Amino acid sequence: MNFKELNVRPEVVAALDKIQITDATEIQEKVIPLALQGKDVIGISKTGSGKTLAFAIPILEKVLPKKGPQALILAPTRELAEQIKNEIGRFGQRTGLTATAIYGGVGFERQVYDLRQCEIVVATPGRCLDHLRQGNFKVDRIRIAVLDEADKMVSMGFIEDVGVIFGQLPRQRQTLLFGATISLEVEKIKKTQMNDPVTVQAQVHVEEEFLDQFYYDVDQREKFSLLVHLIKTEDPHLAIVFCSSRQNADVITKNLQRQRIDAEAIHGGISQPRRLRIIEDFNRGKPHILVATEVAARGLDIKNVTHVFNYDIPINSEDYVHRVGRTARAGAKGKAISLLCQRDYGLFQAIFDRYRNLKITALEKPQFPRLMFDAGQRRFGSGRGRPFGGDRRGQRRR
Ligand code: ADP
Ligand code: MG
Repeated sequence: MNFKELNVRPEVVAALDKIQITDATEIQEKVIPLALQGKDVIGISKTGSGKTLAFAIPILEKVLPKKGPQALILAPTRELAEQIKNEIGRFGQRTGLTATAIYGGVGFERQVYDLRQCEIVVATPGRCLDHLRQGNFKVDRIRIAVLDEADKMVSMGFIEDVGVIFGQLPRQRQTLLFGATISLEVEKIKKTQMNDPVTVQAQVHVEEEFLDQFYYDVDQREKFSLLVHLIKTEDPHLAIVFCSSRQNADVITKNLQRQRIDAEAIHGGISQPRRLRIIEDFNRGKPHILVATEVAARGLDIKNVTHVFNYDIPINSEDYVHRVGRTARAGAKGKAISLLCQRDYGLFQAIFDRYRNLKITALEKPQFPRLMFDAGQRRFGSGRGRPFGGDRRGQRRR
């Protein structure tokens, strides 16, 4: 179905046309009509399936200019809040409506001002609560509340805050909730904050047509050298290397840089302005390797990522699908390559157990030069925060 058939207002259809978005994705086709009828909706679909537009369109249909904040979208990270705000701005260009992003790590003053001027607020839960407590954010006209990335809200420990925030909104409102999966913790929000919600789900499968998935079985001590070899031979346009901790992301980034590979780390320990700048730069192709933790990259729409490398295997199987969903977006081809060593077997098996139809092909280990790897300083005692599993001897320089 196209957006005109979905009764989307002409200004928005035109704005979408301009960026070559004409036909609705499955989740959009399922959510938009229900949401336009005023129903509470839970939309479940994988990363990259167009959930933002699924809630942006109903908001742009229902909100009126110059009448104060009428829609609130809660997102788990600052980057995501920025991205949603920008997209709504783009889709709603000709509607006269403004969206603002509210998150921590930056000053209050500007946000206090924006909260008075805008109609659509995109916020992270912590800062949203701060503004509510200080009376900066008048919610009496909020008629649509959206919870985006509900599963991430749970894993980041924000779900209680979400409940508190939603509890302060007018009862007469519409609530939309989105995620790639919906866990038990989200059920509570559903029970207490939603009104007879309809759940719709887009088919859950990795776009196997466009995404090739591989893995290499290597010795822990060879992981880094193999990664460098793959970056050099695969020559990705843009690649994300996923790590399971901030320390790992930093150490790998440093080592990649030592190999003259333009890599940057992005994780929760990096300041907000810097994170935003790195994402923007990455979107422009420099750096062309982003070394990321789960949290930093979740939900972000970065185009033209040709390769995802799993340097560490994710602890939650679902994160695998989220990670590989960073590539092969919007019909472009992508490759996901996991590097596993013996201690990753269990986690990797769990991914297969959970997603039985995934096709991940084993590749023969190629010939590659062994590189020096500097594991940096250990900040923790044994067992915690070890960047590379293998023991110290394994990292001896040669
Ligand atoms: P999700 O929130 O489900 O992970 P996003 O809303 O971030 O997905 O959308 C992913 C990408 O798909 C974005 O670049 C968006 O512009 C694009 N997109 C969204 N809807 C459509 C559509 N109907 N047709 C083509 N591209 C779309
Ligand atoms: Mg999203």
